Amino acid sequence: MTATKGSRPKGPRPKHVPQRTCVGCRQVLAKRELIRIVRTDTGIQLDRTGKIPGRGAYLHDQRSCWEKAIQRGALARNLKIELTDADRDNLACWITELPPENDSPEPA
Ligand SMILES: [Zn+2]
Repeated sequence: MTATKGSRPKGPRPKHVPQRTCVGCRQVLAKRELIRIVRTDTGIQLDRTGKIPGRGAYLHDQRSCWEKAIQRGALARNLKIELTDADRDNLACWITELPPENDSPEPA
């Protein structure tokens, strides 16, 4: 066995990647892998740019995570709000925009 010490090229260190937790399944992932939902004065908003100020919660682009987060109250708890009917309508709408899940394996 040979040691591979020093095989890494010299240079700037890799950037620290911010990590966030999906409030649906509690998985920790790079922030860019998740969808941010922000609490604003006019209700919750989908933050596609990551630039909307305010308290945010993060979710996978998976419907099951959204449904879990909404049903279990994790989303509301993370945002420290109660979901209004309008918020729920918005969420239901955003969920339909998510890609369909392919968690059922194709028959071989
Ligand atoms: Zn998730």
